[in-house]
Amino acid sequence: MNEMLTLDGVALSYHTAEGETEALKNVSFSARRGEFLSIVGPSGCGKTTILSVVAGLLRPTAGTVLLDGRPVGAPNGEAGYMLQRDTLFEWLTVSANTLLGLKVQKKLTDETRAYAMSLIDKYGLGEFADSYPTRLSGGMRQRAALVRTLAFRPKLLLLDEPFGALDFQTRSDVAEDVRAIIAEEGVTTLLVTHDIPEAVCMGDRVIVLSPRPAEVRAAVTVDIPGSPARRRAAARTNELCEEIWRLLRER
Ligand code: ADP
Ligand code: MG
Repeated sequence: MNEMLTLDGVALSYHTAEGETEALKNVSFSARRGEFLSIVGPSGCGKTTILSVVAGLLRPTAGTVLLDGRPVGAPNGEAGYMLQRDTLFEWLTVSANTLLGLKVQKKLTDETRAYAMSLIDKYGLGEFADSYPTRLSGGMRQRAALVRTLAFRPKLLLLDEPFGALDFQTRSDVAEDVRAIIAEEGVTTLLVTHDIPEAVCMGDRVIVLSPRPAEVRAAVTVDIPGSPARRRAAARTNELCEEIWRLLRER
């Protein structure tokens, strides 16, 4: 089976004391194994809600979510979540931070420990393994957070505005870095971002959402080869960004 993730007619409403908020109306898309999907849409349209549904943290009101052919149930540890704040613990070393997720999930074995440590080495954090996060630059912190997430071999990587807290130059460097690591590990990824050029430069496809309640307006294939930096320099990138902006503005 080539599809790692399929959402079919997913709807979700929040119920609070103030009433009901329809966040997702009819969301359908799928991601092939190893595919990198960017998700863009207006602020408050339901992007984070989609990731929460995919992670099994929220149950849809209607529709189905299949991860690797099986319905997504309770939080399952099969999806790795990385947020805007890197959430490294300052009082733990880089290696302790990396192993923490495995420990919490009771998956820390000789094999998983060795794999986690190999990721730390492979991605240039080896000399910081015994250091505390304060010694890392913003970019390296983000890399450490990614390595920690990859350490438990998630079937799916969920990135919610992961570069939002970084300044512009660091942001493009980190995007380059993170994209290369994800390609190397071959993990299926959903990236939520409000930055259209970033969505185009990182994704194999860009899922464009309507205003709340979210529906998929289009899935735009990024027909530009190469790394984010190479894509940024390509004329075609501008054309795709224009197309996506136009889709977002449609009524
Ligand atoms: P986005 O990530 O695209 O900015 P969200 O998925 O966070 O949007 O939110 C979609 C809508 O659902 C917003 O109107 C938001 O206010 C509402 N919402 C999000 N989380 C909750 C919640 N826990 N309870 C009630 N309403 C929520
Ligand atoms: Mg959000």
